[in-house]
Amino acid sequence: MQDFTVIPASNAALPDAPVALQHWIGGVWVDSADGATTERRSPAHGVPVSVAAKGGRLEAHAALAAARRAFDAGAWPRSSGKDRATLLLRVADLIDRDRATIARHEALESGKPITQAMAEIEGAADLWRYAASLARMIHGDSHNSLGPDMLGLVLKDPIGVVSMITPWNFPFLIISQKLPFALAAGCTAVVKPSELTPGTTVMLGHLLEEARVPAGVCNIVLGHGDPVGEVLATDSRVDMVSFTGSTAVGKRIAAAASATLKRVSLELGGKNPQVIFPDADLDQAADAIAFGVYFNAGECCNSGSRIIVHQDVAAALTDKIVALSRRVPFGDPLDPRTQVGAIISPEHLAKIDGYVRGAVAAGATLALGGAALDVGGLGAQFYQPTIVTDVRPDMPIALEEVFGPVLSVLTFQTFDEAIALANSAAYGLSAGVWSKDVSTCLDFARRVQAGTVWTNTWMDGFAELPFGGVKQSGQGRELGRYGIEEFLEVKTVQMRIGTTRGAWVA
Ligand code: NAD
Repeated sequence: MQDFTVIPASNAALPDAPVALQHWIGGVWVDSADGATTERRSPAHGVPVSVAAKGGRLEAHAALAAARRAFDAGAWPRSSGKDRATLLLRVADLIDRDRATIARHEALESGKPITQAMAEIEGAADLWRYAASLARMIHGDSHNSLGPDMLGLVLKDPIGVVSMITPWNFPFLIISQKLPFALAAGCTAVVKPSELTPGTTVMLGHLLEEARVPAGVCNIVLGHGDPVGEVLATDSRVDMVSFTGSTAVGKRIAAAASATLKRVSLELGGKNPQVIFPDADLDQAADAIAFGVYFNAGECCNSGSRIIVHQDVAAALTDKIVALSRRVPFGDPLDPRTQVGAIISPEHLAKIDGYVRGAVAAGATLALGGAALDVGGLGAQFYQPTIVTDVRPDMPIALEEVFGPVLSVLTFQTFDEAIALANSAAYGLSAGVWSKDVSTCLDFARRVQAGTVWTNTWMDGFAELPFGGVKQSGQGRELGRYGIEEFLEVKTVQMRIGTTRGAWVA
């Protein structure tokens, strides 16, 4: 029986007209020189929500020139940590002030639920505050034991001009994992949001302007990966590329950046396993698994999209997840009761469906869902909560990022088998373990290949804790104190303080 909890079209007001979005270059808001624009419609409601300037090489070059000037000749990189922190704190307060407006636009452009968008904007403000605290903690080392005539200093410098390229699934949150940390370090930036969700990054630019960030310190260029992203990854004026997005594009960026040996930080995809041992609290696990797979409609790098469950409890756990899945409210993102909204695009929905159909054709079983979801009064961009069992480890649905509300269930018998399955994907972003035995949890945490491990929980996150992937999930770390180190360069200073150096030429 395919009954789900559906929240139909609410009576929340939709925008009368789309918001016009411009580039921010050298402190000035501008349209594209050729007047090109891109319209974005709400994936849930189909109405136009933004019309963004569509940048080209010209805009990307102008933004890079402005960022370079602001770094090489401007006051920002040499300003005190205290001054930079003060500005970042002002931005955080402005984000709080405009939270409802930003969240509404985020929900409209991305299709995510309004309550979740509100929480994300609140979390983003916290990141700006946390980065402000780091701005005052930048310090290097001193070496006073190099002999009587020598003092060694290790200085931390801002790396320079950073280009930041972001995806559509958490637009405001992800730029807030990068930009405040780079600004805290004293860097300047050129930001390119996803062409599907440019709105809230532009709103952030307006807040930065209001907070009086100096002209050219942060620039925003709207447009597509080709050509804007390509210029930001290749141009010799860029010292570092900070990218969040798919592994395929991440590889292209790393290759493009290699010609000038830029620093590259990559936050990429994941195929994140949760291993459930027989002694686990199955009710707790089932709820966290539902959260992990349906949060953001599964369009989440941290999606808990596959579980590896001990054979003895597989049937009982699957039944619990199926029952919970029917209760998760899918539907209108603007209704505060909704927990899962719309899929970003029709093309993406077709890709999700393709994975499910492929698995079923290869012998997997549909325990729930497996088709588009009809949400009364709204368009066709919703997908049912979907659970696929009898998944074999070599199926694409078990190894590749589906990026939809689709759970794959695999089973194991021994600990070694569970670890082998968990480590079998090319990705290594996050992983989870469910057991009441702390030794089992610790053993798993030490042997699993992942940047983050959750034990008896899923997807908790803190500004203080670093986040990033191993293997093909990326390189580098965001958040925590590592979040600012990414944007700092190490410089060694060796000072002779005695009188004689000792002649080299006799
Ligand atoms: P995507 O790779 O298609 O696009 C990301 C960004 O790159 C967009 O701004 C896009 O315009 C730009 N881009 C595309 N081609 C480019 C090129 N050749 N050169 C430079 N820039 C280019 O990703 P997406 O579909 O927007 O986002 C989904 C992906 O992001 C998923 O794989 C997801 O796992 C990943 N993601 C990872 C994290 C993380 O922290 N690890 C977080 C969120 C999303």
